[in-house]
Amino acid sequence: MSKIELPENIASLSAYSSAKSEKLTGTTWLNANESPYSRRVNLNFDALNRYPDPQPDAVISAYANYSGLNPEQVLMTRGADEGIELLVRTFCEPGKDSIALFLPTYGMYKVTADTHNVGITALEQNLLQQGSATDILKAVGKAKLVFICNPNNPTGATVSTDKIASIAAALKDKALVVVDEAYIEFCEQLSAASLLSDFDNLVVLRTLSKAFALAGLRTGFTLAAPDVLAPVRKVIAPYPVSAVVAQIAQEALTPDAITQMRRQVSILNKAKEKLIEVLGSSDKITKVMTGQGNFVTVQVRQVNDIKQAMQSGLIMRPFTLFNEDNWLRISIGSEQELEQVRLWLTQPQAEK
Ligand SMILES: *Cc1c(COP(=O)(O)O)cnc(C)c1O
Repeated sequence: MSKIELPENIASLSAYSSAKSEKLTGTTWLNANESPYSRRVNLNFDALNRYPDPQPDAVISAYANYSGLNPEQVLMTRGADEGIELLVRTFCEPGKDSIALFLPTYGMYKVTADTHNVGITALEQNLLQQGSATDILKAVGKAKLVFICNPNNPTGATVSTDKIASIAAALKDKALVVVDEAYIEFCEQLSAASLLSDFDNLVVLRTLSKAFALAGLRTGFTLAAPDVLAPVRKVIAPYPVSAVVAQIAQEALTPDAITQMRRQVSILNKAKEKLIEVLGSSDKITKVMTGQGNFVTVQVRQVNDIKQAMQSGLIMRPFTLFNEDNWLRISIGSEQELEQVRLWLTQPQAEK
């Protein structure tokens, strides 16, 4: 054990357990909201001796074009997760500032705040859903960043663009409203990207990990007004985007590839509807949260039923919600993968 003392906030961290870090053995993977579609890529490089373009023009302009923005409003990052981290590092002073979030939600906001010794104002999804912009303004207090996951992981709940606009207006000059749109391709019309030119305290986070089927690439985008991105550009590492990553991302953003992504989204959305029907009529399932995104969150009658699925190689994402440990998030996989879920649902219930 090293004698070098750790800062208190680091010593008290528990490592983020991502879907992949738990060494599970399985045959059907429906626990990380990955796309079932994968494509071969061919690489051909003759200048990897050189440092890459820090922000590759071709990728930036393709993504700006895809999201209806100007290139100056787009920053490419190592996944949306790096976007979260950069925002916390850029706008929050350790030991003094805080972020606000609406629970239950994506775990990385808290992990990132904890690792940077930044406080957390924990609010509830209910407030976001039912509260007015004024209620939210009051509850957020002095938080510098307000994270809104839309659609929300793991509940699938969504927030209208009008509501995002009214929250951004209420928090003008007080806090940045960060809308995490990791799953927005599954409900494109809900994107807040079109509000970016009206609000200089709005940030939108995007990723190629979900609908674009490139979780292994580690690519995301932070979208915001040029003035908001300017300090973030000072904080980001000098060469954050590998030339290899840039080439694959560029191919993923051609018009043909975007059309293909949209076709896959429509297939996955239909498969989700079918799965929801099956889940709704299963004795094993007591609650189904229907929302947007390539996942369905359900409450299972008995925790042992979840264990049974895991033991048979069907890996989904169990978690605790409202103090109950029988919740499960199921990613929308391929037809064959979802067939495994149907088989599990028709098996006899496990012993209590
Ligand atoms: C998956 C996910 C991310 C992470 O995206 P990466 O680009 O893979 O880092 C961010 N936010 C939410 C809500 C997610 O579910």
